[in-house]
Amino acid sequence: MSEKSFASLGLSAELMRAIEDAGYTQMTDIQAEAIPHILAGEDIIGQSSTGTGKTAAFGIPAIERLDMSETEDPQVLVLCPTRELAMQVSDELRKFSKYKEGVRIVAVYGGQNIDQQIRALKSSSIVVGTPGRVIDHLHRRTLDLRKVKYVILDEADEMLDMGFLDDIRYILGAVPEQRQTALFSATMPSPILRISQRFQKNPHHIKGDDGNTAFELIQQYYCEVPKNKKAGCAGLLFKQSGAHRGLIFCNTKVMVDILTRRLCEMGLAACSIHGDMRQGARTQVMSGFKSGKVNLLVATDVAARGIDASGVDIIINYDIPEDVDFYVHRIGRTGRAGNEGAAYTLIAGSGEFFDMANVQEKTGVQMKEYILEGIDELEEDKKRVVPEKKGSGGSDRGAKASADGKPMVLSIDVGSVHDITEEHIIESLTSNCRLRREDIAKIDIRENETRVTLPGDKAIAAEKAMIANNATVDDFLVICKIVK
Ligand code: ADP
Ligand code: MG
Repeated sequence: MSEKSFASLGLSAELMRAIEDAGYTQMTDIQAEAIPHILAGEDIIGQSSTGTGKTAAFGIPAIERLDMSETEDPQVLVLCPTRELAMQVSDELRKFSKYKEGVRIVAVYGGQNIDQQIRALKSSSIVVGTPGRVIDHLHRRTLDLRKVKYVILDEADEMLDMGFLDDIRYILGAVPEQRQTALFSATMPSPILRISQRFQKNPHHIKGDDGNTAFELIQQYYCEVPKNKKAGCAGLLFKQSGAHRGLIFCNTKVMVDILTRRLCEMGLAACSIHGDMRQGARTQVMSGFKSGKVNLLVATDVAARGIDASGVDIIINYDIPEDVDFYVHRIGRTGRAGNEGAAYTLIAGSGEFFDMANVQEKTGVQMKEYILEGIDELEEDKKRVVPEKKGSGGSDRGAKASADGKPMVLSIDVGSVHDITEEHIIESLTSNCRLRREDIAKIDIRENETRVTLPGDKAIAAEKAMIANNATVDDFLVICKIVK
């Protein structure tokens, strides 16, 4: 935290009132350093560790500098790598703009109804969006960026990395040259800094100090586990740690899904989040996590970038991050706002030990060894990259049962912890199995499982079709089996 209060900035009364409502008194270091430069119209690169209030650092001056005699087209553009972050940032900005009359903050991201966005974009002051959807609106001519005076790239290193660079270049081509550009992130690798020169004019590179102290509040451990029990160990570690809310990182989407399933089998309320999921499901998962209904979120790096979920007291690196900077972003999801947190990196095999040592060397972090108790009693992880095919025993049993036409119960391995509703189940069964709604006699949604009662022959066909289709229920890859 900086010594300086927001009052020292000479902001408008409307903004000061909103800042007070948010409960902010003192500025963080990055805010104290960056806001005056931004108010003065200068370009900046704002670097400070996660959770140090970078959103307010770029957002407060953005709102302060809006010219309210212009209300037709946006004057500020904020670009974020994910939809969740775009939503979070727009919510945060609305907190500050609430007393300033006429300010309209519009979030645009994929997966959300585009017509609704088009309507909202007519008369917007600040647009917060993901590159893909912003480009979509530019193509449709439903977004005009010619009045934009100030552009912010949040999670800038991610945005200027290969995956997004062309998009950013395209979007900035639609914004006047005479503009202010601010980049914010916790990490700014030098190749990215070089690229950023193309988009900025004599930027001030500002580093907030809060970062170091935040990092110090996070206890960091590594934990050696057997390869064939690694997923189980992640669950065991969470249980043993006594943590309330955790984030587990995997390097791939497939691993995210497999691990989530294993954790649910262990009775944990775990959910996945990654880029292949539909927006509806992602939003549900995030709100479940933020409200505490889901206490373990399994994520890929990009999906969790910048997310501000309070009370995350444990981070588990299931996979060692592919990029050392990812490590910094991952563990920054805990230890926020002065709270303590712990980060654990699971190590299975000597290759991973070497990778972990590399992370330590590059970040200067000292990880302590953590010994996990009870690994011997843990079941081996099932090898379940694809759903198991039923053996002949299973179908025999089915054939007999169907002959006498008795109802059977199909078990699907998702339930209320995944925010599954009857509608999700019906949707999946009817689209994968040529079932009709009337065929479904009963749906019983339990915590980690849903039981569906069907006529015997339909149940057997449904079980087969769900397996053959790699069926999903509301984006969760599921395993189905007849249990009665
Ligand atoms: P970052 O982008 O640096 O990771 P965020 O902008 O997401 O951080 O902010 C992290 C949390 O800190 C948010 O919940 C935000 O409301 C809070 N916060 C930001 N600035 C302040 C401040 N000056 N005083 C108190 N809380 C703050
Ligand atoms: Mg942020």
